[in-house]
Amino acid sequence: MTFHRLVVKCGTSTLTAGTPRLAPPRLVELAQQVAQLRSQTYDIVVVSSGAVAAGRERLSLTQLPKDLPVKQMLSAIGQPRLMALYEQIFALYGLTIAQVLLTRIDLADRRRYLNSRNTLTALLEHGIIPIVNENDTVATEEIRVGDNDNLSALVANLIDADLLVLLTDQPGLYTADPELNPTAQLVAEVTEADIPPALWQAAGGATTRLGTGGMITKLQAADLARRSGTTVVIASGSEPSVLARIVAGEKLGTWFQPVVTSLESRKRYILAGGHAVGYARVDEGAVQALHHGRSLLPVGVVAVEGTFERGDTIQVLNATGREIARGLVNYDSDDLARLRGHQSTEIETILGYTYGDEVIHRNNLVLL
Ligand code: GLU
Repeated sequence: MTFHRLVVKCGTSTLTAGTPRLAPPRLVELAQQVAQLRSQTYDIVVVSSGAVAAGRERLSLTQLPKDLPVKQMLSAIGQPRLMALYEQIFALYGLTIAQVLLTRIDLADRRRYLNSRNTLTALLEHGIIPIVNENDTVATEEIRVGDNDNLSALVANLIDADLLVLLTDQPGLYTADPELNPTAQLVAEVTEADIPPALWQAAGGATTRLGTGGMITKLQAADLARRSGTTVVIASGSEPSVLARIVAGEKLGTWFQPVVTSLESRKRYILAGGHAVGYARVDEGAVQALHHGRSLLPVGVVAVEGTFERGDTIQVLNATGREIARGLVNYDSDDLARLRGHQSTEIETILGYTYGDEVIHRNNLVLL
C-alpha cells in the first residue's frame, strides 16, 4: 500500500512528553519528520492538541480546571503560543505552517465543509503544512467535536487522506489496560469490518492524564476514518522516525485496514447529500469532458433549474434530460445562471469574485 496524503494527530501527552509543559524537542522531532516526508512529496496535515496545556503553562496553573469556559480560556491563551512555537520550529526546516481551527459544525454543514476542504487543498497544493485544532473558543457542547482524535478522523475524510496516524503515549492498542493487566497484548492489526466488541471494551478504561481522549476516542476515530477509506495507525509518538517507518509500511503500533475505498466513501457522501435540490443541463462537450474525468466548467452549462446554495448536491443532465452525474456545486443557482455558457476566465468579471474555474470540481463529482 502506498500513501500520498497523511493526517498526523499529536496529542497533548505526546507534545508535553507527559509533563505539564510543552516539550519543544517533541515539536522539533515532529517538524523534522514532517519535513522529511514533505521532501518525498507526501501531503501532510497535522492535527495538534496542546493549546490548553500551553495556556495552563502560561498561567502556571498546577491543576487543570474542570469547567469548560476556563478550558476555553486556556485554549485561547495557549493556541497562539503553540502556533508561534510551530511557526519557528517548522521554519528551521524551510516549511511554512498555517493555522486551521474547526468545529463539528464546519464539517457537518455542506457549504462550510466545501470551504474548509478547498482551503486545506489550496494549502497542500502550495506545500504548506496545515496545523488543525478545534476552535475551542466557539465550540460549545452542541458543536464541538470534543477531542482531537475524532477531529482528525473528520479531517482525514475532509481531505481524502489515505493514512491517519494517531500518535500517543502508548505503543498502540492493547487487548486490556496494560497498566492493570500484565497479560495485555498489543493488537498489531484490525482487519474485521467491525472493530471487535472486546477491543471496544478494552479501550473503554484507558485515559491519559493530560489529554482529552483516551484509547476509546482513538478507537472511535479509527472506526470513523477507516469507513472513509483511510488506513489508521495508532502508535507511540516517542518511537524514533515513527512517521517514516509507518509510511514505509512497517507494522508498528496498531494498524486498522480501511473498510471501503476513499472513492466509494466520497461517492457515498455526495450521493447521501439528500435529494438533489437543482440541476444543470449541459452540452455534449461537457458530457464528453466529464466522461474523460474532467471538471464541469460554466461554458458547458446550458440551463440551470432549482434553487441551490454553494456546496449543495446538484444533478447534471445531458441534452435529453438524462442524469449523467451528481456533485457538489461551487456556485449557487443565481450565480450559476449568470455564468452559464461563459468561459471560466470571465467568472470574476461577471460576479465580482470567484470560487474557482469549476462549477463542479471533478473530485466532487460522481458519474452515474
Ligand atoms: N483542543 C484541545 C487543545 O488544544 C485538545 C483536545 C484534545 O486533545 O483532544 O488543548
